Amino acid sequence: MSETRFPLPPNATIGILGGGQLGRMSALAAAELGYRCHIYAPQDDEPAMLVSAARTVAGYEDEAALAAFAAAVDVVTLEFENVPVRTLEILAPLVPCRPGPRALSVCQDRLQEKAFLESAGVPVAPWAVVTSEPELREAVARIGLPAVLKTTRLGYDGRGQAVLRTQEDLAPAWERLSPKPLILEAFVPFTQEISAIAARGADGATAVYDAVENQHRHHILDLSFAPARVPEEVAAQARAHAARVAEALELVGVLAVEFFLLPDGRLLGNEIAPRPHNSGHWTQDACQSSQFHQHMRAVAGLPLGGTARHSDAVMRNLVGPEGMARVSALQAQSDVSVHLYGKASARPGRKMGHANRLFPLGTLGKEAVAEALSEL
Ligand code: AMP
Repeated sequence: MSETRFPLPPNATIGILGGGQLGRMSALAAAELGYRCHIYAPQDDEPAMLVSAARTVAGYEDEAALAAFAAAVDVVTLEFENVPVRTLEILAPLVPCRPGPRALSVCQDRLQEKAFLESAGVPVAPWAVVTSEPELREAVARIGLPAVLKTTRLGYDGRGQAVLRTQEDLAPAWERLSPKPLILEAFVPFTQEISAIAARGADGATAVYDAVENQHRHHILDLSFAPARVPEEVAAQARAHAARVAEALELVGVLAVEFFLLPDGRLLGNEIAPRPHNSGHWTQDACQSSQFHQHMRAVAGLPLGGTARHSDAVMRNLVGPEGMARVSALQAQSDVSVHLYGKASARPGRKMGHANRLFPLGTLGKEAVAEALSEL
């Protein structure tokens, strides 16, 4: 392999696995930092390809295409965590990969992820691996109902899971969900869902953004409120957990940790995403360095940028045709930034863009939220 020197010099090329909006916004940030991006994805004309210097359209396990990609870039990162671990195993001997195969593997598998969160000192809901229907019955007897049964891999935005309320729900849920094994989790009676984004540089330094509060609609993130409207110690704990997870994973880049907040103020970790995250889009307009700049800085070996929030913010996702129908009204508001992903067709449920509305620092109380929701 030709030796990559860090920090990458201007005009070096960052390879990104995955072509979606997270790759697009990472590539735009990379361009501002003076880098070129080369997108690798199985389909052509993906949102990230439309703003990048180079593209490879090939399968994730196409060894010849991966070798050519490795030779064309100075470092590789990813923008979604369902890239096969095998892809990074093929690339890692050829080019630095940030994150590497281990971090990806942990975040791809809910069983490894839960065990990892526990080992990093982040409490999680009671859980059990289930490999057969009798094991599911035993696990339900131990954990109780209601409970949530999930696939261990490839689940996102609420896909690949079932809420079990009565014994009659067990058999159909076991039948329906695949691939097996599955994971059973206690149902968490959360009052809020919170996330925190941490960055870790190649030098081991960490930087964390303010924790945010997330609201979902039809299982898709709808709104993020920055900062989360929670007691200071809860926000501090979420940030500390996210930094600890980044350190324990030895990540170089950014990650998001999603939490459930319990009525007694305790936080339970739910998921880790080893990449920029939808709940961090507010940082584009409300922080010195956005999560995308931060990710590119870390991957390029630059020192991390500032994570301080200079404004309060509400982010709303623009999903499907209804989301696109709101674009011009949002573009007419001077305190709103609309970010569109360049997707050709607005199918229902597809994330087309998002809007960030800023508020003066410290003013995101109940009234501002009501106003934000009526106009966003
Ligand atoms: P996930 O795919 O794990 O992010 O789950 C998607 C959504 O389902 C979460 O954002 C929660 O709203 C809900 N959910 C997931 N796991 C649980 C749980 N153990 N208890 C209650 N709600 C859950």
